[in-house]
Amino acid sequence: MAKENKGGAPQGGGNVVSLAMCPVEKCGKKATRSEFCEEHFVWFKEGLVTRGGQKPKDFDKKYQDFLTRQKKAA
Ligand SMILES: [Zn+2]
Repeated sequence: MAKENKGGAPQGGGNVVSLAMCPVEKCGKKATRSEFCEEHFVWFKEGLVTRGGQKPKDFDKKYQDFLTRQKKAA
């Protein structure tokens, strides 16, 4: 999973910054907003993923609605 761990960041010791990964499937980015990466934090707010990174059963419909709203906002 964590394929790039270069740079010798210290592991598990008193680091204030959270090194948690975004829990959304196939994402693997570093969590920067709450438990999510920037993009998926928006998804979470929009109800596209649960707190655990799971997609809801009606994800496709919700995602289409989300895209429509994004276009209108742009
Ligand atoms: Zn993500």
